[in-house]
Amino acid sequence: MKIPILDLKSQYQKLKAEIDQAIANVLESSQFVLGPEVKKLESEIADYLDVKYAIGVNSGTDALIIALRSLDIGLGDEVITTPFSFYATAESISVVGAKPIFADIDINSFNIDPKTIVDKITSKTKGIMPVHLYGQPAAMSNINSIAKEYNLKVIEDCAQAFGAVYYGDCVSCNQDCHQDTRQHLTGKHVGSIGDVGAYSFYPTKNLGAYGDAGMIVTNDDKIADLAKMLRVHGSKKSYHNELLGYNSRLDSLQACILRVKLKYINQWNQARHHIAQTYNQLLENTPDIIVPQITQGHVFHQYTIRVTNGKRNQLKDFLAQQGIGSMIYYPIPQDQLPVYENQYQPSPVSIKLADEVLSLPIYPELSLEDVKIVTENIHKFQTDH
Ligand SMILES: *Cc1c(COP(=O)(O)O)cnc(C)c1O
Repeated sequence: MKIPILDLKSQYQKLKAEIDQAIANVLESSQFVLGPEVKKLESEIADYLDVKYAIGVNSGTDALIIALRSLDIGLGDEVITTPFSFYATAESISVVGAKPIFADIDINSFNIDPKTIVDKITSKTKGIMPVHLYGQPAAMSNINSIAKEYNLKVIEDCAQAFGAVYYGDCVSCNQDCHQDTRQHLTGKHVGSIGDVGAYSFYPTKNLGAYGDAGMIVTNDDKIADLAKMLRVHGSKKSYHNELLGYNSRLDSLQACILRVKLKYINQWNQARHHIAQTYNQLLENTPDIIVPQITQGHVFHQYTIRVTNGKRNQLKDFLAQQGIGSMIYYPIPQDQLPVYENQYQPSPVSIKLADEVLSLPIYPELSLEDVKIVTENIHKFQTDH
C-alpha cells in the first residue's frame, strides 16, 4: 500500500533511540513481570487521567473482564451495551457469565444512544457498558443519570480512546453531538466518568505497546482492591489465594515502551484531530459521503465516513487498487455475530451503519499531502460511478 491505513513502523523509527534504551534497561534489571516499570506507568497514567487507581493487566479484553468481576457482575446478570463495537466488548460480558443486552447507536456519533437504553432495563440489569468508539466520548452525562436512576454500574470501554476528553452532552439535543453548547465546560478523561474504565494498549491503539497490554482505571477503593487481586490469581498475598482469578499481569517491557510513548500522546492525538479536520474540509459536499462529526476531545482512533449510495465495498476496492488502505469497522454488529446464533433482533441504526462505514488512513505521522491524495481518489470514484 502506498498509503496504508496505519503505519506503526514510522513511529518506531522516530522513537527508536528512546525505546531501545528503555528496553535495554528492563533487560538489564531483569524484572520482567509487574515490577517498578509497571508501578511507574500506573502512577503516570493515574495522574494523566486524573483517577485514583490505574491497574495494569494483560490486555484490554482482560481489563473489561476484570472490571466486570470487580463489580461482582456475573451469572444471571444483564449488562446493556452497544451493538456497534469490536466483539471484545460483548465477549467480556458473556465470558463472566452475564448476558449482553444491546441498545442501539446514535447515527451521528456511532456511540450508544442513551434514548435506547431505558427500554432494555429489566430486574436483572446490573450495568451499562458504553464504548467510546473511534475515539469519541459517548454521551456519559445521560448514561450516568440513567445508571443513577436505576442503580446500575457504568463500565467504560476506553480501548479506542486514550487521551479522549469528555466535555458533556449537548444541551440542545441531549446527545453527544458536536454543538458548542455543553453542560460542563471542564473536560474529564474517559474512564474517569463511570464507575470503572478499561483501556487497551494493543499495538494499533492510540497509545500502543509492542504486544498485548491493558489497564483498569477507577476512583473506587473496593473495585481497585478486587481488580489487583483478580489479575494475580485472586490473591493479595502470594500463595494465599482467595478468589478465582486470572494470570493477567502487565509485562515490564510493555510498560517501559508505554512510558516512552505516553510523553507524546497529546501531540499525536492533536495530529489525528488535525488530519480529521483536513479530511472533513476536503470531503465536504461530496455526494453520498457523510463525514464524521468533529467534537472537542475526540481523538480519532479511526476516521470513519459513511458511504450512502450502497457502493461502500466498491469504493474500498477502488481505493485498494490505487494503493490506499481502508477498513470496515465493523461489517457485522456484535449482536449479529455467529457466536450469538440469532439470539438478538438487529438494532436498526447499527445494522444500517454496518453497510455504510468506511475507515480511512489515519495515524499521527500521516502527511496532509497523503490525506489530499485519499480524498482526490474518493472524488474520482464518486464522479466515475
Ligand atoms: C481493542 C478493543 C478491545 C480489546 O482490547 P485488547 O487489548 O485487544 O484485548 C475492546 N474493546 C474495543 C472497543 C476495542 O477496540
